[in-house]
Amino acid sequence: MSQQPSPNDLIAQGRALMIEKALVAGRWRDGEASPIAVEDPAEETVLGHVPSLGGAAVEQAIEAAARAFPDWAARKGKDRGAVLARWAALIEANENGLAALISLENGKPWPEALGEVRYANSFITWFAGMAERLDGRTIESAKDEDLILAFREPVGPVAAITPWNFPAAMITRKAAAAFCAGCTMVLKPASATPFTALALARLALEAGLPEGCFSVVTGANSEVGGRLTGSPLIRKLSFTGSTEVGRRLAEQCAPTLKRLSMELGGAAPLIVFEDADIDQAVEGTVAGKFRAAGQTCVCPNRIYVHEAVREDYLERLTARVSKLKVGKPFEEGVVIGPLIDAKGLDKVEDHIARTKAAGGRVLTGGARHELGGRFFQPTVLAGGDDRLFAAEETFGPVAPVFAFLSEEEALTRANASEFGLAAFLFTRDLDRAMRAGRALEAGIIGVNSGLVSNAANPFGGVKQSGYGREGSVYGLDDYLQVKSLTLALG
Ligand code: NAP
Repeated sequence: MSQQPSPNDLIAQGRALMIEKALVAGRWRDGEASPIAVEDPAEETVLGHVPSLGGAAVEQAIEAAARAFPDWAARKGKDRGAVLARWAALIEANENGLAALISLENGKPWPEALGEVRYANSFITWFAGMAERLDGRTIESAKDEDLILAFREPVGPVAAITPWNFPAAMITRKAAAAFCAGCTMVLKPASATPFTALALARLALEAGLPEGCFSVVTGANSEVGGRLTGSPLIRKLSFTGSTEVGRRLAEQCAPTLKRLSMELGGAAPLIVFEDADIDQAVEGTVAGKFRAAGQTCVCPNRIYVHEAVREDYLERLTARVSKLKVGKPFEEGVVIGPLIDAKGLDKVEDHIARTKAAGGRVLTGGARHELGGRFFQPTVLAGGDDRLFAAEETFGPVAPVFAFLSEEEALTRANASEFGLAAFLFTRDLDRAMRAGRALEAGIIGVNSGLVSNAANPFGGVKQSGYGREGSVYGLDDYLQVKSLTLALG
């Protein structure tokens, strides 16, 4: 196994990619108001600052995206694909430094951050290959004399607003699809993790993305978000974040009737049936639940295990989770980093306290980690009230386990949530996998796997988890509109 580079070396590479400016219309610029401090959540120190842009700068970014759009859209798909391919090559060449930057601003362990950079880059590679395949169709008309041609055209300049939990991947899965389709983009990254976004944008410019096609604007939500959602020049908003903010942004977009993609919160159920391979179920649970310290939208938020195998599963899961190493992101062997902020810790503590009050037990963990700061012990809970976890994302390293007695009960409880992003099930019975997989109300289902994210997999939710898809040909459709042209053939 190749050795991880030294922490000092990695931190230097990450810092070398850090840009403390916003990218507006192809120019790096400062803001008018006091800049926003970006913290290192593992050290609880200030990592750097990004500008707080005023409305005029955001308008400039929007206007530049509108100006750049016709030429970019008119380019051959092959040319746009070539720019994407060069962007992917530059990201690959800088992957250690980009991963270090993610670790610095987000806190996830460096090897996991490296996995995110590669995952993020897989969207760019995948969409680079699609750019020359945006074919339309010919349609047989109901009238004999007509021929109908349906073209697929880019929707126009788009705005993207992204969260902090995947500082690279949440950006590339929007931007790569948008650029592939011929759209231009103004991005507002999360204020907690803007540096990865800015570094990715710099590499996109180096790859030959024309000026104005990609701006990264940082600043107050009211100013930046308000301008992006209010502008008639922006034809679509792609948002990833909480359901609450998504609802508000959809309202703000209503007056200009923007197309919307809403990748919102989840409260994923994970079901372990009595015929499951228990080791596989435990590994799948750990992989899905504890990645990013449990701060992912698709991670299992509530685990339902058949009563006949519950004790066995709990014993193995508890043994496995109690060995997960918590620590700073550049320390070797660490798999759980800090939570993003103090609010995140409070929420985890609140969910554990409410579970105990409802009769649940803590099997391992259950408290802040001895490292202090924003570190929390990986936790397994048994019993309590699953309705809490169906209604609220914990967003932390906590696996609450509940018993069930029948398939029907498991599916009913799994579906008893306003969310419907991901769901997981473990069974060796193919009939049951198909039956349960079809019955679960979620957009993304994992069977015998806790990991479902993949550039070729349509990713997105149902119910209050949103609408639209990212990745795959379905993700591309979100950036395209159909134009029909009718030829009267006489
Ligand atoms: P969040 O509070 O909704 O913020 C997401 C983004 O929206 C950030 O860039 C944030 O900016 C911005 N924002 C917040 N209020 C805004 C407003 N009034 N106007 C314009 N922009 C605004 O969510 P988060 O805490 O960063 O991320 C966690 C949430 O994202 C979870 O619910 C998780 O499930 C969800 N998520 C969903 C997916 C998916 O694909 N479905 C993937 C990842 C995460 P600031 O950072 O500047 O506040």
